Amino acid sequence: MQDSFAHKGKRKILVEYLRHKIGISDENVLAAINEVPRHVFIESIFEDFAYEDRAFPILSHQTISHPSTVAEQSELLQLKPGEKVLEIGTGCGYQTAVLLAMKGLVYTIERQKDLFDFSKKKFRELHLHPKFQSFGDGFAGLPTFAPFDKIIVTCGASVLPTELLKQLKVGGKMVIPLGLTDEQVLYRFTKISLTEIEKEEFGAYKFVPMLNNTSK
Ligand code: SAH
Repeated sequence: MQDSFAHKGKRKILVEYLRHKIGISDENVLAAINEVPRHVFIESIFEDFAYEDRAFPILSHQTISHPSTVAEQSELLQLKPGEKVLEIGTGCGYQTAVLLAMKGLVYTIERQKDLFDFSKKKFRELHLHPKFQSFGDGFAGLPTFAPFDKIIVTCGASVLPTELLKQLKVGGKMVIPLGLTDEQVLYRFTKISLTEIEKEEFGAYKFVPMLNNTSK
């Protein structure tokens, strides 16, 4: 799928919407949203609406998050170029592409085999290079690659995945929606020391659930 002038123009309008209406101020996030062709990650029937602040169905009854949610989570993460970031829930790969555009060293996990395959193909087509892409259960994290500077969870967890907090560096941050299936609250956990965690709250959201194990 081509990235036309029309797509680029719509992306600029989206960026201004995120800046002025949603209040995103991290220029690194806004530049990444401006760079990544979101329409390439969704079904062609939704192409005309790709740069509206909307979520769309992707494979396996999952959803690509609203651009405003991707921008807000990315801003809360405070990702700096060259930092190691673990993403739980690769989905179609759009958020992964945004983290890569922010120059993160990205490790990503997806539990649905068809989405793992889909995103892998997209990354190849777009010449994007996550450090590591795993088909697995995000509750376990990636102990062999830990510790991480940042962790972003793009599905709603009913319980705090403590294994992920273990895989965070001291000084590191994890952005995660927590709550039951209907609605979650977005949190940012900062690992102050090995025994001390700071918890901040950022309002209500609706994510697909974080599920155990993998699904073929
Ligand atoms: N960032 C994605 C959002 C996809 S929705 C995007 O931009 O498209 C969240 C994703 O989390 C879904 O693909 C779902 O399959 C995945 N998921 C749910 N539980 C998971 C788990 N335990 N481990 C890894 N991925 C998980």
